[in-house]
Amino acid sequence: ALVVAFRGAVRRPGRSFAPDQLHVERALGSGSYGEVFKGQLDVHGTAQPVVLKRVKSRVQDGEEMGEMEVLMNVHAAKSAARAVAPYLGFCDVPAGAAAPGGLSPGLWLLWRYEGCKTLASYLGRRDGLRALASDLGVPEALVVPVALRQVLSNLAVLHASGLIHRDVKPLNLVVAENDRRLKLIDLGSCADLRSGVNFHPQEYILDPMYAPPEQYVLPTDSPHLARSLLGQAMSPLLWARHQPDRFDSWSAGVVLLCLALPHLRTDAGLSRFLSEFEAAQYDLDAWRARCKWVAPRDFAPLDADGGAGWEVARGLLRPRNIRVAPDGHVAFLAGGGARWPARLSAAE
Ligand code: ADP
Ligand code: MG
Repeated sequence: ALVVAFRGAVRRPGRSFAPDQLHVERALGSGSYGEVFKGQLDVHGTAQPVVLKRVKSRVQDGEEMGEMEVLMNVHAAKSAARAVAPYLGFCDVPAGAAAPGGLSPGLWLLWRYEGCKTLASYLGRRDGLRALASDLGVPEALVVPVALRQVLSNLAVLHASGLIHRDVKPLNLVVAENDRRLKLIDLGSCADLRSGVNFHPQEYILDPMYAPPEQYVLPTDSPHLARSLLGQAMSPLLWARHQPDRFDSWSAGVVLLCLALPHLRTDAGLSRFLSEFEAAQYDLDAWRARCKWVAPRDFAPLDADGGAGWEVARGLLRPRNIRVAPDGHVAFLAGGGARWPARLSAAE
């Protein structure tokens, strides 16, 4: 209904740019429904590097999803600005109009270009953690907890604004060159739990490698509740009780393991972990006890500081018993309040 409203009288929110203010330079990647390019935005003679994403109108539901992505970005840019790459606005290129800058007809969304590296590009390199440490400006020994904390504090900010991301993974975490920190990108799978907008997860858009098993997000023992949660806007009370933000903290847990354990950085390695973890009934210690293919020394960064990192991984990948504090620290609801690592000051 919302999308219908948009097509009717309601104006699309956010800033609108003219096609002749933009030109495309090169492709950045192609995801589930959009095509993404690096380009330049010209405002009153000043050019600025931008990321341009075209909504694939031929994909079923592509247009609706594009309008959702606009809404999520407008909301996040206002209420969670620190956590996400800055959304600039949109450009509607009319059909039949050949735009001078190389934009094909359709709806284009624009963000500030934050740099050429996502977390995935580091994890794909042998010296990835060293490069990441140097780009984030932290000692290599601290890069795993610092990166995780940045991810978690971004999520805490996003969640406080009422959004869950639902597609947290290395490809959707960009290292912002100027700020020297990780930011979330790709709000195309976001749900706004206050309004219920886009809360129906379209299964095919969720990444099975990073999305949690369903029973971790909503209680399996009360199907009527799960149904009502999925069917309508979620009240603050239900949010507090069922913590749908656990969706993202599970994904963050998987990201943590990928950061710490090089064997999990390939699709094959990650799939193997996920199926073994499921077979171990999501008991991380049981998985580790049986695991023969990850070198014991690879666990060292997680075992440092009295195993604080391992405890965080265990907590993130366990259902509904942790809270992420606004500064990105993990607090356990039951038992102690592990802060990891103890040495990190709030400034880091
Ligand atoms: P998709 O829906 O295709 O996954 P994304 O929004 O994730 O689209 O963008 C695809 C890729 O483009 C990202 O993985 C990243 O490499 C790059 N990218 C997206 N936004 C930015 C940005 N603001 N700054 C730099 N690179 C970006
Ligand atoms: Mg993406």
